[in-house]
Amino acid sequence: MEPGPASQLRARGLRVTRPRLAVLAVLEEARAGQQHLPVSAIVERARARAGALSTQAVYDGLEALTRSGLVRRIEPAGSPARFEARVGDNHHHLVCRSCGHTTDVDCTVGTAPCLTPASTAGFVVDEAEVVFWGRCESCASQAAGASPEAPAQLPVLDASLPDAPVSATSAAAPPIPDDREASR
Ligand SMILES: [Zn+2]
Ligand SMILES: [Zn+2]
Repeated sequence: MEPGPASQLRARGLRVTRPRLAVLAVLEEARAGQQHLPVSAIVERARARAGALSTQAVYDGLEALTRSGLVRRIEPAGSPARFEARVGDNHHHLVCRSCGHTTDVDCTVGTAPCLTPASTAGFVVDEAEVVFWGRCESCASQAAGASPEAPAQLPVLDASLPDAPVSATSAAAPPIPDDREASR
């Protein structure tokens, strides 16, 4: 049986507080669906679960839980930090370029660091963070579904971009001052 949130906190030497319990419970629940939650979603769900909680209390709770290793923080480029309760297994992430959907993928080797750098430059390496970028299933199928129409439009738009503004400004710009001068 999984230890409850309170005993998980005590096992790490953390004081059991209402925000910490709420945050941990929210992330444990999200773990089942492989959800990686931004702070805003954690605040919302923690309040739904535990009643009034300040955003700062949730931030502080996350900070303590992350530092103690009960919670993992990931920061895919271009998106806010996300948190999860799946820790200690050196798993990696697949991130969708289109919608930001983030999902887990097991470590290919099983232990950290799963990749060995060509040169460590004297560093003692203990982790390699791998993010696989691409498109999620739903974004990829949307892109595939849109492709019969898109190619017909995109080349037209692309072709018009380099030419049109230049010729439009050079052709259209002179008449405007002329018209204005003529009308004044
Ligand atoms: Zn997507
Ligand atoms: Zn994960």
